[in-house]
Amino acid sequence: MTLAAIDTRYVYDFAEEPPGGRELLGGKGLGLSEMTRLGLPVPRGFTVTTDACRAYLEADVFPEGLDQELGAALQRLERATGTRFGSSDRPLLVSVRSGAAISMPGMMDSILDLGLSDAVAEGMSKATGNAQFAFDSYRRLIQMYGEVVEGIDADRFEEALSTLKRERGVTEDTELDGGDLRELVARYKRIYRDALGHEFPQDAGVQLRAAIEAVFRSWQNSRAQTYRRLNDIPEWIGTAVNVVQMVFGNAGPRSASGVAFSRDPASGSREPHGEFLVDAQGEDVVAGIRAPQPLEQLEEELPAAYAELRKAMNALERRYRDVQDVEFTIEQGALFILQTRSAKRTAAAALRAAIDMVDEGLISREEAVLRIDPSMLEHVLHPMIDARASVTVAATGVPASPGAAVGAVVFTADEAVRRSAEEPVILVRFDTTPDDIHGLAAAQGVLTAHGGMASHAAVVARGMGKPCVAGCDALQIDEATGTCTLGSFIVHEGDQITIDGSAGRAILGAASLVVPDSNPDLDTVLSWADTFRTLGVRANADTPADAERARAFGAEGIGLVRTEHMFFGDERLPVVQEMILAEDEVARRAALDRLLPFQQADFEGIFDVMRGLPVTIRLLDPPLHEFLPSEGEATSERMKDRIRSLRETNPMLGTRGCRLGLQWPEIYEMQLRAIARAAIAVADRTGKPPRVEIMHPLVAYAEELHRLHDLTERVMNEEAPGLAHLCGTMIELPRAALRAADIAAYADFFSFGTNDLTQTALGMSRDDAEGKFLTSYLNLGVVGHDPFATLDQNGVGELVELGTSRGRSVKPELEVGICGEHGGDPASIGFCHHAGLDYVSCSPFRVPVARLAAAQAALAERGTKYEVAGG
Ligand code: ADP
Ligand code: MG
Ligand code: MG
Repeated sequence: MTLAAIDTRYVYDFAEEPPGGRELLGGKGLGLSEMTRLGLPVPRGFTVTTDACRAYLEADVFPEGLDQELGAALQRLERATGTRFGSSDRPLLVSVRSGAAISMPGMMDSILDLGLSDAVAEGMSKATGNAQFAFDSYRRLIQMYGEVVEGIDADRFEEALSTLKRERGVTEDTELDGGDLRELVARYKRIYRDALGHEFPQDAGVQLRAAIEAVFRSWQNSRAQTYRRLNDIPEWIGTAVNVVQMVFGNAGPRSASGVAFSRDPASGSREPHGEFLVDAQGEDVVAGIRAPQPLEQLEEELPAAYAELRKAMNALERRYRDVQDVEFTIEQGALFILQTRSAKRTAAAALRAAIDMVDEGLISREEAVLRIDPSMLEHVLHPMIDARASVTVAATGVPASPGAAVGAVVFTADEAVRRSAEEPVILVRFDTTPDDIHGLAAAQGVLTAHGGMASHAAVVARGMGKPCVAGCDALQIDEATGTCTLGSFIVHEGDQITIDGSAGRAILGAASLVVPDSNPDLDTVLSWADTFRTLGVRANADTPADAERARAFGAEGIGLVRTEHMFFGDERLPVVQEMILAEDEVARRAALDRLLPFQQADFEGIFDVMRGLPVTIRLLDPPLHEFLPSEGEATSERMKDRIRSLRETNPMLGTRGCRLGLQWPEIYEMQLRAIARAAIAVADRTGKPPRVEIMHPLVAYAEELHRLHDLTERVMNEEAPGLAHLCGTMIELPRAALRAADIAAYADFFSFGTNDLTQTALGMSRDDAEGKFLTSYLNLGVVGHDPFATLDQNGVGELVELGTSRGRSVKPELEVGICGEHGGDPASIGFCHHAGLDYVSCSPFRVPVARLAAAQAALAERGTKYEVAGG
């Protein structure tokens, strides 16, 4: 033995205190270990660590010492259970189960009933007097082992099972008797031999070793890889493997398997939820072999086990202080817990449960705030079917994930991906499996004929925040003809349907959807968040309606009013074009004078809504050619000339922003007058002067802002003497960030325009990057994330920090915010908090996200943590 083998232990019994947490044991292994040590009824077993998996995947062989450790662990398990692995007398049977540090439900493989062979199955049949049970277990092993270890196509086994049931004239698996199942085993063994050219291994030790290797390798299967990509799970971490003594839910009518949530994962209400199957092994429940029964019925059928389960779930909630999702098996009336993890839940349920747990004294308000994933908040305010619309409900099912969605019907995951490039789709399937994950990701929602709240489709849809209607009995799919019957209707692939996952309805055609704008639980949690955060939250809003929505979501001001839309519209555009075509300044001013009243009215509308909160107005930014038609559509020679003279090779870097304002100062002057007059009018009318912040875009040189600052002050003085206001600039060019100290001399505030700052710092035009080379960079791993979605903290972020500190070095009271789309991204908001910014400004819909993310950043700084349990 080498030193390394002595140093590194790869195997830990559930009953012992491990030297590490989920990184070492995986979530499932850690949960089994903790539950064992809490005294809950868990079968015995041990965990092979993620260290061993990584070593195996690297070298393609077991690391040194692992074989010996496995042997010793198996002996301990035999002693503790009074059984022997491979013996036909008192056989030890085990499951071999994957389980990574981060939960990846159903993505990797597990094998049950290992240790069975011809002799052991015979022995077990005799000892229990239950041949049905013994050979049912054996056929499961041959199939799972064949699939997972040897890659035999599952359909071959499924077909043999269907054929046998047809021959015997039965419909349910459980109707096959011992003799039938003995026959099925013989057929399965033939399938195995035909596929591989050798017999199913009869040696338990050989089975175990091969199963562990196969589970290690299942880390690399393509659905697990897709899942990791979708969920940002690192590739290198690997999975642990748990070897667990089998307990049998398929041992007759007093046995069962099921899953249970300690609270309702859709609404968060305190009632436990779940489903179970009598006389079945665990994987049957998720696979949907038979329609499962709702958990409430367990109370009637096996009351003692049900009471035990409630007790165990309570203990687990107290231990983990979170909603738990458990797998259980009942063997001859005795309950066993096989897994626990923090339950995936809808955003609405997350809020409800967090508030209840604060009331119950389980968690603090800080923890409640930390627990809610900011990116899920958007889903709280789910689209719903407009209550006034009349709809045709074709069929109903289980309301498995709330919200409503409209799309074209597709029947396969691949088709969902293909078609979703063109239009929204609804994935319609008998049920879904982990192989459909890409289709679920591409679809707006999912409708299944089979399964319930705990079905694969339901769990994944809730995780993704998409609506799901499951268990829709009246749905029958005929993939061959590309149609399905939905109740009494025939629906073709490509037809529009609407699903309502809150009420469990499938509706013909595209129903009209509405988005509610409040949720009392959301308001409660956000009001707590507001007491923790120090970062301000404003919204980007261009119209009174946007501003209204921003205020409803809790924005504390507007961080960006884009004024370009004030130059468009049937009445305005001809005047704007007249202005652009004008031969001289006098003519230009004449046109601008006619625009002014329109814009003044626009500003008044926004100031009215914002009632004294800050409103940051960006003066005209886009190049003037955007207001002219294409050359072919020009209505005069003069217009053609202007179009040609304004044409630019690279308009993003051309005559726009303050460059335009310095070329044609009368444009900015008009905007300033409109702002000033609007402010006075609103102040007179309401007695409350608006807090106006005038923002000059695309400044590179301090001298640009110097001149525009003078212009601003002159006009404001003429129009609204004595009106308090700020004059500042966007920082959206690297030079501006570097020369922030010079620029701050003329600025009351900075607002980092991180969209353009990212484009200019990286030299990437967003439209030419996204969906093109940047997407391939992401796929290749050249960059870890999209810098337009999440701020590039090391590069662009450094410019933000530098600009802030240099600006404040000459003007400590300088107000600093950001107004790029990053202002609504949780990770970027965390960065802004740490960089000491005063506020972020984001789209109105993201204001709740920003309030929560800002609070989480502040709490994280204080060292308050929240960890997820189980796996
Ligand atoms: P997954 O990650 O797909 O849930 P698991 O390892 O949890 O995989 O196991 C698959 C199914 O088999 C689950 O329903 C689980 O409860 C059941 N199972 C696993 N080990 C045992 C065991 N030792 N006895 C009985 N059922 C088991
Ligand atoms: Mg599981
Ligand atoms: Mg810009």
